[in-house]
Amino acid sequence: MSEKTTELIRKAAVINAFKHDGKAELQAVLGNLLGEAPELRSQAKNLIPLIRDVINEVNSMPMEKLRDLAIQSWPEEFSREKKEEERELPPLPNVDKYETIITRLAPNPDFVLHIGNARAAILSHDYARKYKGKFIVRFEDTDPRLKKAQLGYYEKIREDLRWLGCEWDEEYIQSDRLPIYYEVAGALVKSAAAYVCECEPEEFRTLANGNRACPDRDLNVELQEKRWERMRSGNYEEGGAVLRIKTDLSHPNPAIRDWPAMRVIDTTKTPHPRVGSEFKAWPLYNLASGVDDHLLGITHVIRGKEHLTNMARQLYLYDYLGWKYPEAVHYGRLKVEGMNLSKSRMMKALDAGEITGIDDPRLGTLDALRRRGFLPETIRRIIWEVGPKPVDVTISWDNIDSLNRKLIDPIAHRYFFVPKPELIRISGLSQSYRVKLPLHPQYPEQGYRVLEVPSTNGEAAVFVANTDIRTLQDHPVTRLMGLFRLSQPSLQNNELTCKFAGESTESGQAPIIQWVPSQDNLQVKVTLPDATILQGLGESGLRSERAGAIIQLVRIGFCRVDQVTDSLISLWFAHQ
Ligand SMILES: [Zn+2]
Repeated sequence: MSEKTTELIRKAAVINAFKHDGKAELQAVLGNLLGEAPELRSQAKNLIPLIRDVINEVNSMPMEKLRDLAIQSWPEEFSREKKEEERELPPLPNVDKYETIITRLAPNPDFVLHIGNARAAILSHDYARKYKGKFIVRFEDTDPRLKKAQLGYYEKIREDLRWLGCEWDEEYIQSDRLPIYYEVAGALVKSAAAYVCECEPEEFRTLANGNRACPDRDLNVELQEKRWERMRSGNYEEGGAVLRIKTDLSHPNPAIRDWPAMRVIDTTKTPHPRVGSEFKAWPLYNLASGVDDHLLGITHVIRGKEHLTNMARQLYLYDYLGWKYPEAVHYGRLKVEGMNLSKSRMMKALDAGEITGIDDPRLGTLDALRRRGFLPETIRRIIWEVGPKPVDVTISWDNIDSLNRKLIDPIAHRYFFVPKPELIRISGLSQSYRVKLPLHPQYPEQGYRVLEVPSTNGEAAVFVANTDIRTLQDHPVTRLMGLFRLSQPSLQNNELTCKFAGESTESGQAPIIQWVPSQDNLQVKVTLPDATILQGLGESGLRSERAGAIIQLVRIGFCRVDQVTDSLISLWFAHQ
C-alpha cells in the first residue's frame, strides 16, 4: 500500500467522521475515497480491511481532536454545509372545515419558557403560518395563590417567543377577562349546569369517589344564584365555596366528577400582580381555558397529552353552552436527556438560591440556552423533528448539540485559548514571528487574526496550558499550532525552555500545542454547562468580538460571547 493511498483513506475517514458527529462509515468513506482517487477502484475490495482499521481508529477520537485534525490537515475540504432539506409538518386534522385556522399558546407567567414549552409555541405558531391562519398568545394568570404570575415574566415570555421566531397576531391576558368568566359562570348556574358547593375538599372527594352527589348539588337555582353572587362579591372565606360543573357522577375518572370551575381566593392576603385585590372569585384552569378557546375562535388546540383529562372535563362545559370543541392534537411527553424540565423544581431551586437565575446554564430554559449560544433555529429543528407525535420522546443532548453545531460552525471565528496558562521560553530564534491565521479555516473570506511572538536576542516566550507542559516535556518534537516546531525541552528554574526547530507545522506526527502570545493577550472566563468557571488566557483578537457573537475556542468548543472589555472576555460554553 502506498503512503499516498493510506493518507487518502485517512483523509476520507477523518472528514467523514467530522461531518457525521464523530462516526465515519465504511460505505461513505469508500465512496469518497474512490471519488477522489478513481484509479483505486480496481483494488477497492482489498482496501476494505485497511479502511475498517482506519475508521476504528478515527471513530475513537474525541470530536475536538477530529475537528482540529480535519480542519488543519485538509482545510480545502470544508465547504458550506448544504441547506437542510425543507421538512413539512404533518397536516392538522379537518383544516378544510375552517375558514381561518387559529391556534394559541397559553403560558402561565409564573415562570419563563423552557425547551419543553417551546414545542407548544413552535407547533402552534408554525401551524398557524402554514395555513395562513392566526396565532394567539393568551397569558393564563388566574391563580393568585399557588401558581402566581410574576410581572416580569409576561415580558420575558414575550421575549422568548420573539427569539423563537413565534410572532403572535393577538394577545390576551386572562386576569383582564374575569367579568367574562363571571358571565359564563352565572349562565351555567342559571341553567342548573353548575352549583356552589360548600363542602370541605376532603368531604367532597369522599362523596365523588363513592359516586355520590354533594348535598348542595340539587339546591334550587335561586339559592344557587345567591351563593354564586356571594362568591363573586367576596363574601365567602378563602376556600369556603367552589363552583362546580355537573358531570356524570359515575364517570370512570373520579377527578372529572363535578369538577371545580371557580373558587374563592383572599386576594387581600395574596394580591394578584396585575389586578391586585379587586377580585375574590377566580376561575380554575378548565373554565378559563375552555371558555377562552371558544370565545377566541381557536380552531386547533395543540398541547401535551396530559391535557386529555382536561378535555374530558371541558366537553361538559361545551355541551351545556352548545359550543363545538376545537380540534385537539395531543402530543406525547418530551424529555431532554439528563435535564429536569419540571417548572416547580426550577422555581424551588431559584427560590433556594441553588441556581444563579432563570438563565443558569444548568437549566433548560430558553434563556439559558440562548445565553449559551444555542440558536432558535436549533430549537425549531428539534421540535419539527418530534412534531406533534403522540408517543413520548427523549431528545439527547448530543442531538441538540449536533444540530446547533451545524448551524454555528460556519459562523464561529476560531481563537486560541489556554486554560491555566504557563509561560514557556523559546530559544534559538533568528527573528520575531508574526503569524496571520484565518478566523475560520474553511472560509478565509471571514478574515484573519494576527498573533505576534517578538524575540529578543533569539529568545521569546508564549503561554501554553499547564496540561500541555507535560506534552512538551514528553516529546522530542512538538508543534505550536500555526507557528513553528519546538524541540529539546528542558526545565530550568521551574520554567520550561524549548528550542526553535523549524517553521513547518504542516505535517508529521509531532503533537500540536495551542498557545497564546505572552505580551498581547486577554483574560478569558468561560461559564461551563455545570455553572463552574474555566479561566485562562486568549489571543487578543477576541477583543474584537461583540457580546452575542458565537466563537470557537480551538480544542475547547463553541461559546457565546457574554461580555467583552479590553482586558477580559466572558464566554458561555455551548458545546464541543
Ligand atoms: Zn359540596
